[in-house]
Amino acid sequence: MKSYSLRSPAKINLYLEIVGDRPDGFHELATVFQSIDLADLVHVRSGMQGVIQVECAAEGVPNDASNLAYRAAALMSERFPEAFAKFGGVAIEIEKRIPVAAGLAGGSGNGAAVLVGLDLAWGLGLTQGELQELAAELGSDVPFCVGGGTALATGRGEVLDPLAGVDQVWLVLAKYRSLGVSTPWAYQTYRAQFGAEYARTPEAQAARHTAAKSGPLVRSLQALAAGDRAGLSALRPLLRNDLERVVLPAHPQIAQLRDLLDRLAPLGAMMSGSGPSVFALAESASQAQEIQAAARSALPDPDLEFWVTQFSAAGIRPVNQSV
Ligand code: ATP
Repeated sequence: MKSYSLRSPAKINLYLEIVGDRPDGFHELATVFQSIDLADLVHVRSGMQGVIQVECAAEGVPNDASNLAYRAAALMSERFPEAFAKFGGVAIEIEKRIPVAAGLAGGSGNGAAVLVGLDLAWGLGLTQGELQELAAELGSDVPFCVGGGTALATGRGEVLDPLAGVDQVWLVLAKYRSLGVSTPWAYQTYRAQFGAEYARTPEAQAARHTAAKSGPLVRSLQALAAGDRAGLSALRPLLRNDLERVVLPAHPQIAQLRDLLDRLAPLGAMMSGSGPSVFALAESASQAQEIQAAARSALPDPDLEFWVTQFSAAGIRPVNQSV
């Protein structure tokens, strides 16, 4: 019986441009993903009498076949039936620290962790590329979660161009506990309101991808990764999340929180993914603590949660193994 415990980090989007429609019904994106130090812990154990089980105590996380971690184990059992039979099933336990349904890809990370955990437990020796191909079958954000770090993504988010890892950047994350934003609603509303701006042809979409890849945000991130701290203050006007155009007007509380953090944070603030989380960037841990304290006293609402964390270069990492 083999057991692996893996860290499954959250991500934020420093840039999210909706480029156009796709024939498969998803949206064509250009986005910059960044892993952060806030992570779930996923325990993957083989040897469970031929069944897949998932257990997570956090509210809002399903303990059935709809859990992305379960779906990842089911996919691995389909692709590697001999290993599944030999090792006898999979038990997954998730210690949730990433807020659920927050635009931080917590579920996607858990799916990626199970792919990596079973690759290790079953001794398959899959390459990162092979793991990412499997990950793409589970969801658009899952391939990024496998390797983590900093990456520009196109397609529906699964075509990855890794960028040099950026570190020594802190952030304050904030989220109203009781507020949820449906990701499908956000994209559908965006299409209804701003679909006229979409790039219509594959050539026009490719041109927007190229512009994002060689654009000022990617250049600033590369300068930062190379140690040029001046690149940090350049980030503020370059942060972009098109989904703010529909989510903020529909949720004044998120808009108020975002504006407050943006005023308090010299490096700027933005919503992550389809929200409702908002992040503010900071150049030091102490600056992040100050922003958090000021935001708490300006908005003393017990429903509002904060985290101080930092950029991370890590994707899924085993932290513990037992045989
Ligand atoms: P996305 O990957 O779309 O950015 P998200 O970060 O907004 O997602 P998640 O925390 O992944 O949000 O949860 C979205 C929904 O997925 C939840 O409401 C929950 O019902 C479902 N879900 C399935 N598996 C998991 C999991 N392992 N952890 C959290 N949520 C899960």
